[in-house]
Amino acid sequence: MFENILPLYGLNSDDTTVNLFGDGLINHTWKVTAAEQSYILQKVNTDVFKEPSNIDKNLSLLKDFLNKKDPEYLFVSPVKALSGESLLDTPSGYFRMTPFVEGSISLNALTKREEAYEAAKQFGKFSGLLADFDASTLNITIPDFHNLSLRYEQFKTACANANPERLEQAKEYVDFINEHKSIVNTYLDIVANDEVPLRVIHHDTKINNVLFDANNKGICVIDLDTVMPGYFISDVGDMMRTYLCAASEEETDLTKISIRKDFFKAIYEGYMEEMAAVLSETEKQYFTYAGKFIIYMQAIRFLADHLQNDIYYGAKYEGHNFNRAINQIALLKEYLKMEEEFTTPLSSMKEQHNQPHAL
Ligand code: ATP
Ligand code: MG
Ligand code: MG
Repeated sequence: MFENILPLYGLNSDDTTVNLFGDGLINHTWKVTAAEQSYILQKVNTDVFKEPSNIDKNLSLLKDFLNKKDPEYLFVSPVKALSGESLLDTPSGYFRMTPFVEGSISLNALTKREEAYEAAKQFGKFSGLLADFDASTLNITIPDFHNLSLRYEQFKTACANANPERLEQAKEYVDFINEHKSIVNTYLDIVANDEVPLRVIHHDTKINNVLFDANNKGICVIDLDTVMPGYFISDVGDMMRTYLCAASEEETDLTKISIRKDFFKAIYEGYMEEMAAVLSETEKQYFTYAGKFIIYMQAIRFLADHLQNDIYYGAKYEGHNFNRAINQIALLKEYLKMEEEFTTPLSSMKEQHNQPHAL
């Protein structure tokens, strides 16, 4: 396959090595080491991204804007093939190639709050630089990705059509979701509120979508497939969901589900350092809500899939999605318990957000 792809970029496959690279879950990713420089080659997952050209057009618009806005900003976007195209539609699938960011390191888990600070700063910087970009010109690469009211409707449908045995077993968790429907209502308030605008949002803030340097400083964000118009709560909430707890959504020992408050503070400081001047006062009031929004949505999605016999996520073992839903509900409970405490430091953090090193 590579002997057909590499020449399209003017690379000679004889003096180029290609190795599977990284821990991405969606696309196929290889590192291409050529004589002059290295690249990341990707085959786009068209089960998830039905129209890869929508991503490609978005990246081209963002690149043009960012190059003018801040020529120093490292925006990792696909290089052009000899044909002039930055996305290649080949018999083996859709391919694209970006320059490899030399000296970069990817983390799969966070062990230090500085890592949360650096990542949040990079995601904030990205949306901040694009604050004047007209988000409505972007293509929607995954429709309704973070539409919580739709996800809740789908959850109700899943309950109505559920595998009866699974529904009975999951009753306590289904009840919990329904008892916390106010989280959906708040989302609807946000959608209706002009003070909370649609912005350019990354929508996949997991830690290995930020590149770090050898000194643990953030270099840039990568993995721009889900960059779409959205609300800032999507990125902030996804960071909270995936950075605050040392254990992942796969953990089944619920005693390990706890929240690292200092990581919350680090997310706030890193993000606000870039976004405090951009977000409206109304948006800032939803900062803490962001965590509830995303954790609740993920719990709903895992539980709905379990009730429908794992048709979307699949299951590596019986009850896999049920365990993931239980994990996310436990995380949400911890988050809700901490919410009062979050509010107090949040107000004091507001005065301090331009002192990022006081972590
Ligand atoms: P996900 O599961 O997060 O959706 P993905 O399948 O979309 O991931 P990417 O995140 O784009 O794939 O890339 C996978 C990994 O490859 C990254 O986590 C990172 O380690 C590495 N990587 C991607 N692009 C670059 C780059 N330009 N320079 C260096 N490393 C990169
Ligand atoms: Mg990725
Ligand atoms: Mg991705």
